[in-house]
Amino acid sequence: MTVVFSKENLKLSKDLQTLTGENVMLCYQCKKCTLGCPSAYAMRMKPHELMRATQFGLAEEIYWSGAIWICLSCETCNTRCPQDINILRVIDGLREMSKESEYYNPYPAIPALHRIFMALVERFGKVYELGLALLINLRMLTPFKDIDMASPMLLKGKLKPLPHFSHGAKELRKVMARIRAMEKDRFA
Ligand code: SF4
Ligand code: SF4
Repeated sequence: MTVVFSKENLKLSKDLQTLTGENVMLCYQCKKCTLGCPSAYAMRMKPHELMRATQFGLAEEIYWSGAIWICLSCETCNTRCPQDINILRVIDGLREMSKESEYYNPYPAIPALHRIFMALVERFGKVYELGLALLINLRMLTPFKDIDMASPMLLKGKLKPLPHFSHGAKELRKVMARIRAMEKDRFA
């Protein structure tokens, strides 16, 4: 396959730069990010390959690899990059952009878990584990997954049957609302 820097395949890197402020074109493939990455062994597309694929606008291949969902967000790559690229921000941007994409994601449970986790934290100010487990099971159409573990954990008090609000829940909701307003202004 021949890939060239056409206007079409530069669109991905340009959109990412608008979204994250990071310029993936600065990457010169030194592989330092991959060599320090604790998840690289499990990624079908390693961090430096992800950067290369982004330069070439290969969105479909990137999303198909599922690598953006294997990343642990540890930021080791950022500290190693000689070009000062915030690779995690690039990955977060790709995660965000994948919401609008029609391309296949081999790990659909991970973004679903992320969305449910954030919604519960925003609602209660902290995570509500039982709600998280129930909602992700429903979302993935596996309503009885791990149900055998729930009763002993409930009996031992490791899982709370009802959610509790944290003291900072109200403030957190205000912060989230402010972030949303800033995002809206930025992309208006
Ligand atoms: S942030 Fe992600 S890509 Fe970077 S080193 Fe950590 S796991 Fe690897
Ligand atoms: S460390 Fe930076 S310059 Fe090197 S391959 Fe990774 S992203 Fe590219």
